[in-house]
Amino acid sequence: MSAPLLAARGLTKHFPARGGGSVRAVDGVDLDLAAGETLGLVGESGCGKTTLGRLVLRLIEPSAGSLVFEGTDLRALPPEAMRRMRRKMSIIFQDPVGSLDPRMKVADIVGEPLRIFNEGSRAERRARVLDLLRRVGLNEAHASRHPHEFSGGQRQRIGIARALALSPALVVCDEPVSALDVSIQAQIVNLLMDLQQELGLSYLFVAHDLAVVRHIADRVAVMYLGRVVETAPKPVLFAAPLHPYTLALLDAVPHPDPRQARPLVALPGEVPSPLNPPSGCHFRTRCPRAEARCAEQAPPLRQVAAGHLVACHLVT
Ligand code: SF4
Repeated sequence: MSAPLLAARGLTKHFPARGGGSVRAVDGVDLDLAAGETLGLVGESGCGKTTLGRLVLRLIEPSAGSLVFEGTDLRALPPEAMRRMRRKMSIIFQDPVGSLDPRMKVADIVGEPLRIFNEGSRAERRARVLDLLRRVGLNEAHASRHPHEFSGGQRQRIGIARALALSPALVVCDEPVSALDVSIQAQIVNLLMDLQQELGLSYLFVAHDLAVVRHIADRVAVMYLGRVVETAPKPVLFAAPLHPYTLALLDAVPHPDPRQARPLVALPGEVPSPLNPPSGCHFRTRCPRAEARCAEQAPPLRQVAAGHLVACHLVT
């Protein structure tokens, strides 16, 4: 494989906790993303996937680890160089209402990144905004309206147009359809896929919904309590998952064909607190296959087949 667009090694974020100690939100993650690829990042809420999405953009400063984007070590960049690099990376937020300033017109929202980076003349910026609106399925008449005049799906289209204003190479999609009606979700996912084709974008697609990831991702990384436990090309992950946590997650997804539906497997217990995660394998307190060594040693993420990596002592 040629050099990835983005490579994270040992990426870690520990937040100081109020009563002392630290919350290990992201705990040593290795991740590669190729140009033009969509990597789905899945896990239950609180597993650290949203924090990881912000870490790779350096919107949150990592506690440790390395982050290389287009061959440049992002963590070594001084603030001004990092600011310039930001042009190539953007984010689509989960909440299309909260992420758009209600006082601004759509044209100003979408054009804001262009103004911040002093891109082109006023007329050129206007033309770019109209082109972006057209690409996301809106039109010139929408440019002078305010966000409250739009439906949830249209507001997310505005958020997507803004995210693409500076022609980024990498877009972190942070649960971009979770807040939308199911009937609208497919439209937005299809729009993201069309834009990827047209513009050659790379997506880190954060989601708790495996059905959405199954539609859009090329590869999938499964996270549990701050760590990646399994990564594989999408067809492999869905047809032959190996990590006990991935198996449980997939068993919990209702099958579209009821004749093939597997019984829902309820994982025992709650997700442990990232303030005090279990020793060894973080999943051991809920794992049906846990053994004594699982409490002693954290299983490394090991390659078991081409592109298929698993962190479990029992999978070799
Ligand atoms: Fe379960 Fe042990 Fe594998 Fe962790 S290492 S997933 S506890 S069998």
